[in-house]
Amino acid sequence: MSNTTIYNFSAGPAILPESVLRTAQSEMFDYNGTGFSVMTMSHRSDVFMSILYHAEQDLRQLMDIPDNYKVLFLQGGASAQFNMVVMNLANGFERVDSVVTGNWSQIAHSQMGKLSHANIHLAAHGGEQYNYTDLPSPDTWDVSEKSAFVHFVINETVHGLQYRDIPKLATALPPMVCDMSSEILSRPINVADFGVIYAGAQKNIGPSGATIVIIREDLLKRCSSHIPDVWNYQSHVERQGMYNTPATYPIYISGLVFRWLQSQGGVAQMQTINALKAKILYEAIDNSGGFYINNVQPRARSQMNVIFRTGKPELDELFAQESTTRGLRLLRGYKSMGGMRASIYNAMPLQGVEALIEFMQEFQKRYG
Ligand SMILES: *Cc1c(COP(=O)(O)O)cnc(C)c1O
Repeated sequence: MSNTTIYNFSAGPAILPESVLRTAQSEMFDYNGTGFSVMTMSHRSDVFMSILYHAEQDLRQLMDIPDNYKVLFLQGGASAQFNMVVMNLANGFERVDSVVTGNWSQIAHSQMGKLSHANIHLAAHGGEQYNYTDLPSPDTWDVSEKSAFVHFVINETVHGLQYRDIPKLATALPPMVCDMSSEILSRPINVADFGVIYAGAQKNIGPSGATIVIIREDLLKRCSSHIPDVWNYQSHVERQGMYNTPATYPIYISGLVFRWLQSQGGVAQMQTINALKAKILYEAIDNSGGFYINNVQPRARSQMNVIFRTGKPELDELFAQESTTRGLRLLRGYKSMGGMRASIYNAMPLQGVEALIEFMQEFQKRYG
């Protein structure tokens, strides 16, 4: 075995801080002197209730979540939220506004109308407008005061697009419902600007299986009792996240990640490092004399998922293969996109990005 350091650039499930995995390893058979693994203890035990409580409190601290917001750890991934937000929040409304900016918001758009009477109104389409190389500015979104909410994805994991200026709508307009799966906790945001924030944990937090939902309290009034409890936000809130068995182990690991984030200086510090990682990687692409290509407008370039290609599919394939042997893993682009994608979430150290850049330059010397 060589001692090459492995850097995991997967879009998700994604890299976790090594110290988190080591803690989980050391606690695997005996969590905190209980004699039990977190995996095998009752979700209603005091020990697990405490894990859940602290995970929520630490997330509240990190994101500065106001008291009038509830936090839930649900299951079903971000995909389940595409429908849950409509089922719960569109009661009594005829219209939901939906902004399509890439792969995930397109899927959300296609799913949201199912099991709903509301008309899912296309408020903007970044594919038609910009071929997904830029994002429609929020002041061009066609939204109505009468809509239940406005749904959008703040960071498009597949297309490598991110609203670098965080959208904010006039207070007369309906609440924003935001899919933050691939950027939650990567930079400070003002939670109070949103009605609902949701995120699957497996991108920028860690394990798949837990989905974070942060919801403004007053919106819970819209959750009709006709909605089956398992899909009903209000039911989950009333039972303190214990309506049914939550994803105990993923919640435990998420809690460890939250503590790791606190030890790193929190979200503000993450933003500084994330900005630096993205800056040097985009510079490496832009300074390659056209060997590496990224066509996204600088103002919309994602700091989390950096896509690039050489323009020659055979060369992209070679890049994916050779980088793998060098410890730079899972750089192949999304199946429908081709090319490469480097996901550089919170847990990716600066050294990982530097190692990637070094390899890119060397690869270009050989094949450029
Ligand atoms: C990965 C991803 C999803 C889908 O998440 P699941 O947890 O697999 O349902 C949705 N939205 C965004 C932005 C994503 O990156």
